[in-house]
Amino acid sequence: MRLIEILLPVPCARCGEPPRSPCALCLASLNEIPPLGVPRGLDSLTALTAYDDRSAVFITDAKYRNSRSALGVLAHWAVVQLPEQIVDDLDEVTWAPTTRARRRERGFDQAQLIARMVGRELGLPVRRLLRRSDGPAQTGRSRSERLRGPGFVGLGVPGRVLVVDDVCTTGATLAAAASAMRRMGAQRVHGLVLARTPNPGASQPRRFGR
Ligand SMILES: [Zn+2]
Repeated sequence: MRLIEILLPVPCARCGEPPRSPCALCLASLNEIPPLGVPRGLDSLTALTAYDDRSAVFITDAKYRNSRSALGVLAHWAVVQLPEQIVDDLDEVTWAPTTRARRRERGFDQAQLIARMVGRELGLPVRRLLRRSDGPAQTGRSRSERLRGPGFVGLGVPGRVLVVDDVCTTGATLAAAASAMRRMGAQRVHGLVLARTPNPGASQPRRFGR
């Protein structure tokens, strides 16, 4: 983020009030996320807020200046949610890279941008530890493929890592990222996301028997 983007007032992406996005009111109105399970392969997962109509506007489209600055505000408050014992259990920060198509469309990798903000807040190095072994985009895949998560290739030998993403829905992406880093020898993989879908799979039909 350029200095000018930090210094100039920006209208709130949700209500339009200056000087910050989210404004204090919209920030305070974000919904808390009820306790949820930790996706496979992660030692913990911390989320700032529920992914719903109150938070989505600040997260989904960071192409505009006010949403980029919103990511900075949300990243700050997400880091504040991290329990102290997890902060003490970290050597570095990385991110779950987005698809090439998504990156091309946006012009940048949103998860990487958030990871940089988080690293700065924590005073930890931010390192690219994962590459996407680009299969088909998430949207073009079947539900079972999506639940299996994207393919990731580990790029370095991680220590105790915090893996960052913007949103966690099924947890499949973070699980795949964690498993790639474990294969490379990661001692610990904690997760941090800005928002998490409150009830993953809640809209799915129940299945009886096996
Ligand atoms: Zn607002």
